[in-house]
Amino acid sequence: MVTVAQQNPFTATVLGLPRVGPRRELKRATEAYWAGEIDAGRLHAVARDLRRTQLTDLRAAGLDSIPVGTFSYYDQMLDTAELLGALPPRVAGIADPLDRYFAAARGTETVEPLEMTKWFDTNYHYLVPEIGPETAFSLHPDKLLAQLREALELGVPARPVVIGPITFLKLAKASGGSALARLIELLPLYRELLRRLAVAGAQWVQIDEPVLVTDLTAEEIGLVQVTYAELADAPERPAILVATYFGQPDAALPALASTGIEGVALDFTSGADVAAGADVPALTGKLIVAGVVDGRNVWRTDLDRAVATLDTLRGSAAQVAVSSSCSLLHVPYTLAAETALDERLRSWLAFGAEKVTEVRLLATALSDGAQAIDAELAEVRAALASRRSDPRLNDPRVRARLAALGPDAVRRAPAEQRRELQRDRLRLPALPTTTIGSYPQTSAIRLARAALRKGAIDQAEYVRRMRAEIAEVIALQERLGLDVLVHGEPERNDMVQYFAEQLDGFAATEQGWVQSYGTRCVRPPILFGDVARREPMTVEWIAYAQSLTDKPVKGMLTGPVTILAWSFVRDDQPLGDSARQVALAIRDESVDLESAGIRIIQVDEPALRELLPLRAADQPGYLEWSVQSFRIATSGVSDATQIHTHLCYSEFGEVIDAIAGLDADVTSIEAARSRMEVLDDLNAAGFDLGVGPGVYDIHSARVPSVDEITTSLRAALKAVPAERLWVNPDCGLKTRGRAEVEASLRNMVAAAAAVR
Ligand code: GLN
Ligand code: ZN
Repeated sequence: MVTVAQQNPFTATVLGLPRVGPRRELKRATEAYWAGEIDAGRLHAVARDLRRTQLTDLRAAGLDSIPVGTFSYYDQMLDTAELLGALPPRVAGIADPLDRYFAAARGTETVEPLEMTKWFDTNYHYLVPEIGPETAFSLHPDKLLAQLREALELGVPARPVVIGPITFLKLAKASGGSALARLIELLPLYRELLRRLAVAGAQWVQIDEPVLVTDLTAEEIGLVQVTYAELADAPERPAILVATYFGQPDAALPALASTGIEGVALDFTSGADVAAGADVPALTGKLIVAGVVDGRNVWRTDLDRAVATLDTLRGSAAQVAVSSSCSLLHVPYTLAAETALDERLRSWLAFGAEKVTEVRLLATALSDGAQAIDAELAEVRAALASRRSDPRLNDPRVRARLAALGPDAVRRAPAEQRRELQRDRLRLPALPTTTIGSYPQTSAIRLARAALRKGAIDQAEYVRRMRAEIAEVIALQERLGLDVLVHGEPERNDMVQYFAEQLDGFAATEQGWVQSYGTRCVRPPILFGDVARREPMTVEWIAYAQSLTDKPVKGMLTGPVTILAWSFVRDDQPLGDSARQVALAIRDESVDLESAGIRIIQVDEPALRELLPLRAADQPGYLEWSVQSFRIATSGVSDATQIHTHLCYSEFGEVIDAIAGLDADVTSIEAARSRMEVLDDLNAAGFDLGVGPGVYDIHSARVPSVDEITTSLRAALKAVPAERLWVNPDCGLKTRGRAEVEASLRNMVAAAAAVR
């Protein structure tokens, strides 16, 4: 038998790489290609340069195995679908391979794109492959082989990476039965792929199976065993590393261990402590790629702790390599690009490049003993001590207030009582019409924000322009005859960043871009300390809007769970503690809105489903603190103030009870694409509060007709009595154009009137 040692083991790696470019070069080039400003040759050249620089930098940083093939023009699941000949048939007619690929990703005038959804519990979105009877798998490894060749030519110790068959199928959408039933067809393709990679010179291949950290049935665990036994049995192949991340593989680990694969990558940063429990001895003889450097968060690694973990592992297995816990896709490129972070905070952080350095140091400690990195250990110890003792991490006022919040502080009067108070106060018609908050973010708005940032206009001029936007949006809503108005959110760059910038405990980055999907990147704020509100954050804007109309203007806030989900969060206290602190700030804001005469307040929680833990056993704890923090945020106001919430971006099946638990007077929820099914789920959960199922899909520019919306409303009325039903679009309107918004809302108001 070929042992790992003979297979050329490695000692220092990461599981995957970011691809948008340190200055978002790939984003710009891709968008220029879509706009027809550059040709495919130019786009490929930009991509190639980015890859080459990245590969040679990583080699220079001392990694001795470097992932290739995690580069993507859009998404790794889409790449895998292409690799396996599983692009949807509706794009097959597009002759140019690059355009076909982009058509599957983002659609064309005539072709619907693949659906997009969140990658496990991250804020990265992947494209959902569609597997149907018409899918005839076939192998198309050219892209991957070309990247492998490119790396080998540069003398880079390249390790091609592919998504494994179990993860690919489990995350795909199957028409007619489970996609896993097609596993048997994929195995020969993967075996052939292994052969081609070996022939091309790959010593190792990394097969990503993050789905192994979710709850699998015994039958599925059996399939894991069969799959990897079969792949390990391939006559000609590189050494196989199966990578798991975002959690622990539990029962899947012994299944993997029993096969002839050469290595397993394990995540030592997410929950489980040293050595993933008792199963590591089963890995004796294999390479354990120990993810001791967190690939998902931005904190500097506690090197002492990592060294201890590595030592324990070495005691139990033949070979250990050091790695990031997952792909570096989820963190910014480098701290070196940041000029404005305060020195203390900066010393606590590690972005992508700094994490590579940590991996290298730990690999040295592993081979030469911890004394070999004495100086670095001392420096990290000092930085971590400064973090622990920083007064910003421990604000006694915030902590005392939270401790004092008794059960009554998170309870409002029973819903029926509130309903009556609010009815008398608001005097709304049946089937009240409203919108979710944002109106189109016009270029005038974006230009004003850029001008303010550059100092070309002053704050007073900025306020003047935003007020003009608000006045226009209020006038539009009055003209359209909507019942509950909004100010339109022109002043918000982003629904999380806007609040983070105004709260103590958060820091912003300048270049900390992370891919969210395709060419869309986000710059998550860093939550590093205790959260406190310095002063009101939204009151002036919303009170101004209310001053322009007699109709109620709905105040708009972002909820604690969503603020955390779209930030890098503290790792030195439970997430629930951070959530309660954010909740307190939102609570103060809602009380101030109420005092300013605002009668309806909406607290958005679109990310409620996204943070749901991957394992069922961990879910009740999460649901408890997430619901509780929403209630802290929304229970400071009087019972006559109507609380709304808004949920979108997901299937809500698993969190339906939690939605009822939020106890919001009105919940607006994405429903247009799922044809109102969510209402039946809510009914089944005993939900009896106000609900506004989105009556049209805002994700497309199409203007829905009065008839269509009337049909949606009638469908909704089958599930919800008229006195609880609200009429609104699926989500905010910020990405839409003015003209479509006006036409769509006019039809929505007409449909509501017709049904009334
Ligand atoms: N109030 C926000 C808006 O309308 C909600 C956005 C969201 O649900 N993601 O833009
Ligand atoms: Zn939404």
